[in-house]
Amino acid sequence: MTQNPVPPTALSTRAVHVPVPTEVRGRPVSVPIYQTSVFAFDDADAITDALNDPRGQYGYSRFGNPTVRSLEQALATLEGADAAVATSSGMAAITTALSANLVAGDHLVVQASIYGGTAGLLADLTRRWNIRITEVPGDDPDALAAAIEPTTRLLYLETISNPVTAVADIPGMAAVARRHGVLTVVDNTFASPMICRPLHHGADIVVHSTTKYIGGHSDLTGGVVAYADPELFTRGWAYAIGVGMTPDPHAAWLTLRGLQTLPLRIREASANATELAARLAAHPAVQAVHHPSLPGHPQHRLAATLLDRPGAMLSFDLAGGAAAAKQFTSAVGLIQLAASLGGVETLTMHPASSSHRAYTPDQLAAAGISPGTVRLSTGVEDVEDLWSDIAQALQKVDA
Ligand SMILES: *Cc1c(COP(=O)(O)O)cnc(C)c1O
Repeated sequence: MTQNPVPPTALSTRAVHVPVPTEVRGRPVSVPIYQTSVFAFDDADAITDALNDPRGQYGYSRFGNPTVRSLEQALATLEGADAAVATSSGMAAITTALSANLVAGDHLVVQASIYGGTAGLLADLTRRWNIRITEVPGDDPDALAAAIEPTTRLLYLETISNPVTAVADIPGMAAVARRHGVLTVVDNTFASPMICRPLHHGADIVVHSTTKYIGGHSDLTGGVVAYADPELFTRGWAYAIGVGMTPDPHAAWLTLRGLQTLPLRIREASANATELAARLAAHPAVQAVHHPSLPGHPQHRLAATLLDRPGAMLSFDLAGGAAAAKQFTSAVGLIQLAASLGGVETLTMHPASSSHRAYTPDQLAAAGISPGTVRLSTGVEDVEDLWSDIAQALQKVDA
């Protein structure tokens, strides 16, 4: 603490000016929560330097905060990125990744049937800024090459899609994009960096909803954008702080806390999903199972090379259609019906009545979703307890 030349005597002043420890001899083992919106300096020039530097010192927490920086650096390391920008939500991360790199009238090539929130954001950009969009399958580089126009600025992919777990051909697609000077952005939320690192496969920008696997405990909302290139990072940082995408230090700290067990959780949850997918595939009430571990999965071979593990998301189609899916999601007990994913607890939901409720029957079919599709976000519970719950719920379903 700097010495005050005139120590205050009034209690009202002393109550405001509590001691802030700055000279701690031992290093903290856990990242401290820098729950401060602003940093004080001894000279004015130091503030200017701190505010203008996305990688150095801290002046104001919307521009940078040590707890948030710790999270950004940890995630940049895991994704093999030059640097990362943490945000207040996954949608804030996607908005940052897109808007910082677009101007009115640009053209985008987007993987068909992406996350609903992203589809909504793109629809808004289309109306507001005359952004034009062409949809292509995530594993068709020829279709991408045919879709690229002179104003194409960005290719947008998802490593593993919702809810049918389609796997994007990131190397093949990113190579075509790069040849045409088009940036590749990949939403890696469903995989996490423990399963896939898109920047290693040619992507330029990776986004996550850290609300999901990275936080991992269904107790926070956050996002991150990771950049391979320093200039793209600086542009993204300037955009994110300008429009106010910044996370709170406490949410960043919770995310760091979750991140430390990400490898363990992913290992366990992916193994559980693989076992449940195999058992579901053998069940008479189940028509089809969507999980990259299964030999019949459309990108089974691609997944074996691109993904370290098949992942913890799976979905399955009940022969009894929407009625059966609703019976199943109401009959589970240990497993909860909730519209999120990536936590330690197993969650289920019915896409046709929730995430994809705005889809027409034709759009559902095009996305590979049937009225009876049920999604599972597999957690880290004991697999026999999960199967007992699933098996009893399947018994209550009308075929
Ligand atoms: C949840 C999710 C998002 C949005 O993240 P929020 O944290 O809810 O803003 C984006 N992409 C995918 C794949 C998601 O699952």
